[in-house]
Amino acid sequence: MSEEKESATIEGKAPVNILELDPKFKYEVSEQPGGENLKLCFSCGICTAGCPATEVDNEYNPRKLIRMILLGMKEEVLSSNLIWLCSLCYTCYARCPQNVKFTDIMGVLRDMAVREKYVHPSFVKHIDEIDRLSQKMRHQMVRAIFSQKKEDRPINRMNLLKMAIEKLQEE
Ligand code: SF4
Ligand code: SF4
Repeated sequence: MSEEKESATIEGKAPVNILELDPKFKYEVSEQPGGENLKLCFSCGICTAGCPATEVDNEYNPRKLIRMILLGMKEEVLSSNLIWLCSLCYTCYARCPQNVKFTDIMGVLRDMAVREKYVHPSFVKHIDEIDRLSQKMRHQMVRAIFSQKKEDRPINRMNLLKMAIEKLQEE
C-alpha cells in the first residue's frame, strides 16, 4: 500500500472503499486469545477519552481502531504505525463498560502484523526495548519527585527528566 493511501484512510480523509474491505478480519481477530470480546464494543468512546496515547498523538483513537477492525480494514490497521503507539497501560481495559479488553486486542493486532509480515520481527524488539526504557525513565522520575518533595523544592518537569536521564546514564 502506498504511503499516500495509508495516510488518507487512517486520517479519515478518504471514504472507505467497500471493495477493499476484508469481512473476515473481525473473525480472525476475535478468534485469537485476547480478541474474543471485540464484537461487544458499542462505540461509546470511553476508551479513547481516557487513553494517554491520544494526548501525544491526536490520530491515535482506540474506538476508531475497533471500528476499522469491525469494518474489515485489515491492511490499513495492520500496516498502520498507530498500533505501535499504545503504551499497554490498561486504562481502556479497566474502564470499558463492555469488557472489550482493547489492550489484549492490541496484542492480537501486533502479533498478526508480525506474523503476516507487515513489520519485521526486529521492529518488535526495538519496541520492547523502548517500553523497558520508558518504564525505567518513569521509575526514575517518580523517585526524583520524592527526592524534590523531601528537599521541599518545587516540582519541575524538566529537572525531573534531567535527573532521570542522569540516573539512567549511570547504569
Ligand atoms: S470503551 Fe469499550 S465499548 Fe466503549 S468504545 Fe471503547 S472498547 Fe468500545
Ligand atoms: S492500553 Fe493503549 S489504548 Fe488502552 S488506554 Fe492505554 S495506551 Fe490507550
